Amino acid sequence: MTTPNTNPQTQQWQAMSRDHHLAPFSDYQQLSDTGPRIITNADGVYLWDSEGNKILDGMAGLWCVAIGYGRDELADAASKQMKQLPFYNTFFMTAHPPVLELAKTLAEITPAGMNHVFFTGSGSEGNDTMLRMVRHYWALKGQPNKQVIISRLNGYHGSTFAGSSLGGMQGMHDQGGVVPGIVHIPQPYWFGEGGDMSPEQFGIWAAEQLEKKILEVGEANVAAFIAEPIQGAGGVIIPPDSYWPKIREILAKYDILFVADEVICGFGRTGEWFGSDYYGNKPDLMTIAKGLTSGYIPMGGLIVSDKIVAVLKTGGDFNHGFTYSGHPVAAAVALENIRILRDEKILEQVREQTAPYLQKRLRELADHPLVGEVRGLGMLGAIELVKNKSTRARYTDKGAGMICRGHCFNNGLIMRAVGDTMIIAPPLVISKTEIDELVTKARLCLDLTLQDLQA
Ligand SMILES: *Cc1c(COP(=O)(O)O)cnc(C)c1O
Repeated sequence: MTTPNTNPQTQQWQAMSRDHHLAPFSDYQQLSDTGPRIITNADGVYLWDSEGNKILDGMAGLWCVAIGYGRDELADAASKQMKQLPFYNTFFMTAHPPVLELAKTLAEITPAGMNHVFFTGSGSEGNDTMLRMVRHYWALKGQPNKQVIISRLNGYHGSTFAGSSLGGMQGMHDQGGVVPGIVHIPQPYWFGEGGDMSPEQFGIWAAEQLEKKILEVGEANVAAFIAEPIQGAGGVIIPPDSYWPKIREILAKYDILFVADEVICGFGRTGEWFGSDYYGNKPDLMTIAKGLTSGYIPMGGLIVSDKIVAVLKTGGDFNHGFTYSGHPVAAAVALENIRILRDEKILEQVREQTAPYLQKRLRELADHPLVGEVRGLGMLGAIELVKNKSTRARYTDKGAGMICRGHCFNNGLIMRAVGDTMIIAPPLVISKTEIDELVTKARLCLDLTLQDLQA
């Protein structure tokens, strides 16, 4: 399915990959046999590969590139900071202006009462920090038994040991095991798991699983519940409308912390600063990364509520931190990224213009014979590929998602496949014309996929 290379450098790079590079989430035999696609340039919502193909990036890199590629302001912010103070740590009671300004700026856009930030190098490290911090918090409050974190099957919380354990991906748990004290409940994935229930009934059922688990583990043993407002890597799973209100009702009954993993939903993806704002949820902690710097440089963090910080202050040293916690160059880039999001009113544009347009155009694909459901919210979308639209039956064992993904790649569009669910999360700055191009290409690829499946 891949077209032969014309640029001799492509082959050289692929040889380097085969001989030396272990890529994340890849099959090493397959990677060695076919070689990776080499991406060399980017601008706006487009990428170019080493063969000169122009590709519309429907995944914003990896959910990151909110403001689009090629913004010199971020490069300039990094360059300026590197010349002034390229590195200093924030350990042992030190700080520098960029990290302080970023912490203050984040407090301006986070929900009320969430005014403190612990910086990390990634989202995974943010969730590791969360795990250690909430257990420490309960111990300080004289309840050291409150250790268990409730999470969701098919959630994604990163790839460190704690991150992968918090996540509910069986394929990750199977490799290397899991951290003790983390339990999982079903996800609110109506299309895949809702059976004969209506979406609203299923949303209630899925939320009730939280209460069931709290009672099973015992409230005295539960430290926190962690969830993405919308599951991203799991397949852009948008909970039924009944889900979050019911979860809030349950959380109000029990003395446990609520952690929102905002690594994907944060920084405007829903049209609000955070997915928690969109749903009206009130987390005690929020994990951030990705859109924080638009992916231009690695940075993550954990936003912590005043209530938790008041308790942490009674505990002496918090024995935790990363060399790159609050890295000055990353902080300077994040500040510039947030300035652009604000000054260019990108969230307003998403909320009022482009997200409604994307959602309307995407839903036109629902009439395609291969499509069982189109769902989406803000700058997120999912297309379910099925054999039978009314029973939601799949093309079993055919790998419809991977076939479709291949056609997208070859036709200048990046859509990701999660099983037989095609997902998109384009840069927030995508224009209406570019949305038209995305939908036109998506339809063509659905046609080509259907042809292959019927052949
Ligand atoms: C990507 C992601 C993470 C992990 O972030 P890394 O920077 O890859 O460590 C955590 N949670 C969610 C929801 C994510 O999408």
